[in-house]
Amino acid sequence: MVDVSFANLLSVDDARARVLGSVEPLATEEVSLHDALGLVTATEVHAPHPLPRFDNSAMDGYAVIAEDTSGAGEYSPVELEVVGEVRAGGSDEVVVEPGTAARIMTGAPLPPGADAIVIVEVTEEKDGKVLVKASAGKGQHVRPAGDDLDEGEVLVPAGLELGPGELALLGSMGMTPVEVRRGPRVALLVTGDELVDPEEEPGPGQIRDSNQLALLALLERAGARPVLSERVPDRREAVVDAFRRAAESADLVVSSGGVAVGKYDFVKDVVEELGHIELWRVAMQPGKPVVLGSVKGVAFLGLPGNPVSVHVGFEQFVRPAIRRMRGCSSLLRPTLDATLTETVTKRPGRLHFVRVRLANRDGEWFATPTGPQGSHIQSSLVDCHGVARFEREGAKLDEGRRVTVELWRLP
Ligand code: AMP
Ligand code: MG
Repeated sequence: MVDVSFANLLSVDDARARVLGSVEPLATEEVSLHDALGLVTATEVHAPHPLPRFDNSAMDGYAVIAEDTSGAGEYSPVELEVVGEVRAGGSDEVVVEPGTAARIMTGAPLPPGADAIVIVEVTEEKDGKVLVKASAGKGQHVRPAGDDLDEGEVLVPAGLELGPGELALLGSMGMTPVEVRRGPRVALLVTGDELVDPEEEPGPGQIRDSNQLALLALLERAGARPVLSERVPDRREAVVDAFRRAAESADLVVSSGGVAVGKYDFVKDVVEELGHIELWRVAMQPGKPVVLGSVKGVAFLGLPGNPVSVHVGFEQFVRPAIRRMRGCSSLLRPTLDATLTETVTKRPGRLHFVRVRLANRDGEWFATPTGPQGSHIQSSLVDCHGVARFEREGAKLDEGRRVTVELWRLP
């Protein structure tokens, strides 16, 4: 039976669509390639010239006219006159005419006249002559201009996070600075009177604050720039002050805790006072209460306080929002289909995100739940590769069933 209390809950996908609809890509800026790792291209970048720029040698050897080497072999070498040498970076005018060859190094420009390279291993040079002991086909070991990219071709699409490969290619083409978007500045507020620092010994009823560590790490991994991170006591004035400060310096405010219906859950009230609020209960487990809104005109996402809810809510809503603000073309985690190794059950009504560990056996992926799945079970996040979607209407997923896993990290 579907629990009626879940019937009106917003689906995860609808909630995410509302989150994504409430944020915009940030302004673009020009950044030197030296500082662009992890930033996102704002425009498609085109090749200003062919790559490589000139025909060049792929090997160390001799630049020759292919026809001159026809019939050459171990016992029937062809003798050519060595007319000079071209090195990588060299610009000497050496011209290869019939009957001649030029010594050439990898990456050196192919001299005019030559149309092939014979590798040094099949040659013998002596007294200004070279014996070529293998025939070369036209174009052999030559990297023609434009072999990699023609002028005008797309180097890097818009919306791509720049990694080492993209930086190298853009560098090869002299495309620095590059137009990118940085990650949003995020202000993080972690609410709860019960919280103490990880370094502290908790008193009676207190617990160590783990959400701040988790969220700072998640934010960094998502490409955001945390600009403020505060722990806020459950007092209305303190919450108001903290939200005011947060909104001053950030593009996005994220909070944990204080969004449920407890007497000391002030976040909703305060956000309503300073801005606006859309509060929902999302049909998911863990992490049902999620708040979307704005504070002093700055986008706001409020997650519940339970540590696993924080993680799951971050993955479902905050990370996609951050990626949208960064201008990423892909907003969601990739998924992988895997075979479940244990039967799991639930009440229908909410989509469960089952934390799983993945293993590959003989080319097939297997997903094993990381243990008990309560929203307070922090150990379920250790060595966790992602979450298997256990759809809203389902009640039982049998061992051996295929499930879709949202990949948080690679196994
Ligand atoms: P709340 O959403 O504020 O009602 O918190 C729900 C649960 O999460 C409570 O058991 C809190 O003690 C716990 N919790 C809240 N904030 C944190 C935090 N920063 N670190 C660890 N646990 C927390
Ligand atoms: Mg609380």
